[in-house]
Amino acid sequence: MTVQAVLDQIRERPGTGDVIPVFDPATEEQITEFTDCGPEGVNDAVARAKESADSGIWKGKADYERAKILWKVADLIDENKAVLAELESLNAGIPPSQAEVIVSVGSEWFRYYAGWCTKVDGIARDVNTGGLMGMDSHMHAYTLREPYDVVGLIFPWNGPVFNYCAKLAPSLAAGCSSVVKPAEETPLSAFVLDRILHEAGVPEGVVNLVNGRGHTVGAAITAHDDVDKVAFTGSTEVGREIVRASAASNLNKITLELGGKSPVLIFDDADLDTAIMMAGFGTFVHSGQACICGSRIFAQRGVYEKVVDGIANLANGLQLGGPKDEGAMIGPLISAKQLGRVMGYVDQGKQDGAEIVTGGHRLDRKGYFVHPTVVTNVDPATSRLYREEIFGPVVTILPFDDEDEAVAMANDTTYGLAATAWTKDVGRAHRIAKRLKAGTVGVNAQMQFDHSLPFGGYKQSGWGLEAGKAGIDAYLQTKVVWTQM
Ligand code: NAD
Repeated sequence: MTVQAVLDQIRERPGTGDVIPVFDPATEEQITEFTDCGPEGVNDAVARAKESADSGIWKGKADYERAKILWKVADLIDENKAVLAELESLNAGIPPSQAEVIVSVGSEWFRYYAGWCTKVDGIARDVNTGGLMGMDSHMHAYTLREPYDVVGLIFPWNGPVFNYCAKLAPSLAAGCSSVVKPAEETPLSAFVLDRILHEAGVPEGVVNLVNGRGHTVGAAITAHDDVDKVAFTGSTEVGREIVRASAASNLNKITLELGGKSPVLIFDDADLDTAIMMAGFGTFVHSGQACICGSRIFAQRGVYEKVVDGIANLANGLQLGGPKDEGAMIGPLISAKQLGRVMGYVDQGKQDGAEIVTGGHRLDRKGYFVHPTVVTNVDPATSRLYREEIFGPVVTILPFDDEDEAVAMANDTTYGLAATAWTKDVGRAHRIAKRLKAGTVGVNAQMQFDHSLPFGGYKQSGWGLEAGKAGIDAYLQTKVVWTQM
């Protein structure tokens, strides 16, 4: 499939709602459009998913057959790497070399979960209740791990291939049927991945792609009585709406991967060059539009000035540009809306008296580019720029005196997605790792993630876990069967 074919075919998808334009964020040009499928489209998709679940066509397939199909999906993703990477660059503004890596990570999600298809098991026990809890004393009990019939998979625009694979691989390994909604800004790669699933042998009706806006299509998924579970990645604000929708409908189960405001602590004994380079890169990569990007750096007083200078220099040296700009390492923000949001925070910060050390403006060119921005002198108690998730290339840097103060400042947030500490003191590293309230903690390592290890947020950064064994557990229910001996 070519990029042009995707741009053409997505226009033809049926729908009843608005026609939604799709943009290249590096040029601000419209590249295609599609029609919101509306609640009717969701109803049809859920009905197809339910029918496939009831028929057992996927969950009833031999485990090793499902594993082979998922492995084949991975191979086909690799075979289609060029077109998927091109779409990722065109639609999400990700530099081509990074887009290729993301596609490779996507295929590895499927290989990893192909392995889990044959390894889902429960426990068995002979139980002697002593007659306390029932008529019979001697029982044999075992657990069954059963897939949800229909899951709703909803994800954001910031890594379309990654997000698709992170949800589809474990849900298919578990045996679920699904309704899949990519973000309205980035519908293109999901269109190709959907074709790949079918080409690999995932039966018709098992995975049902729907396109549209959050308040129409997303909301219709979360409110649908036949959707047993919703797995969502996106903002904390929409996460709350999904919880409300569940409470108001069928109490469907929910996994939420939400926002963050991740702290990075740099102690004065750190390998400063590495810490500055990694903290800077871990802040500005993808223009700060990765959920685990650092966005609040805290530097110990003795190295504070060096850290501010170092991060500002790094920010100034990063080459921004679109996929066609040779050597660009950082792409644009995703949309005009996101650009307005990021600049709104910067302007608010300026009004509050924050010091913009570098950046704070968009680039003088087409595309939603914002110069990597370093901010100091913010009031931690009141600054919205400091407290709220911006999801852009904006970092605050504040000084601290000792370990206790650093931990207190790092944890003073409603989020708890990721945190990093840079120090050569091994004892301190372990103490800090325990004290930081975040689902992922890096010690002398930043932006770490692997599909084999659980990922999730503390506090308002999420509910439940993705990846690793926990990732397949999220799509399974547990039943206990009691038998009389
Ligand atoms: P968003 O919450 O606005 O949208 C995410 C998805 O939800 C989109 O597909 C959208 O159409 C849909 N949606 C919107 N309203 C809905 C509703 N009422 N019901 C159901 N679905 C609805 O997020 P975004 O702007 O696309 O992405 C940025 C956010 O995603 C940031 O907050 C970022 O931190 C978060 N994120 C988190 C992780 C993680 O793993 N924790 C990963 C990536 C992004």
